[in-house]
Amino acid sequence: KSGFISIIGRPNVGKSTFLNRVIGQKIAIMSDKPQTTRNKVQGVLTLDDSQMIFIDTPGIHKPKHKLGDFMLKVAKNTLREVDAILFMVNATEPRGKGDEFIIDLLENNETPVFLVINKIDQVHPDELISIIESYKDKYDFAEIVPISALQGNNVDRLLETIQKYL
Ligand code: GDP
Ligand code: MG
Repeated sequence: KSGFISIIGRPNVGKSTFLNRVIGQKIAIMSDKPQTTRNKVQGVLTLDDSQMIFIDTPGIHKPKHKLGDFMLKVAKNTLREVDAILFMVNATEPRGKGDEFIIDLLENNETPVFLVINKIDQVHPDELISIIESYKDKYDFAEIVPISALQGNNVDRLLETIQKYL
């Protein structure tokens, strides 16, 4: 099994920390899968029976800039080409405009989207529950997975869950 996974989310939610943890602990090799020019491979995780290719989707990371219609279309289309989307949010911050922008981009997308709630080491379990509730009605997420990319909590479970979608 192998597949492309796009990690999206506003700046500082922990995307790079997550990737470093995942790729750093296992041997990363380049995939021989054809790569579209629109998507930049950030890391490849090779396990016994699967390969996960994490990619960067241009246009998703800069919600501050006003994107033209064309750029918006490109960003939306790249999200249709992957096997799973990890939408990462910060458990310590309320939902913001950057998050709303991304949720809008996901509209009418058939790709499974995981809501990855990061930095759970920083919040009380009750807070986590209310964060989950605040996102639940915004989008029909395939999975909701709380993690701490920094400390590693639940990261293996997230990887196992992703494997089911490849
Ligand atoms: P990115 O902009 O989404 O790539 O975010 P980074 O990976 O650069 O992380 C931004 C900041 O959040 C850094 O200072 C990280 O150390 C911190 N951070 C990332 N993940 C966690 C986490 O799970 N818990 C805590 N407490 N801090 C985190
Ligand atoms: Mg980063």
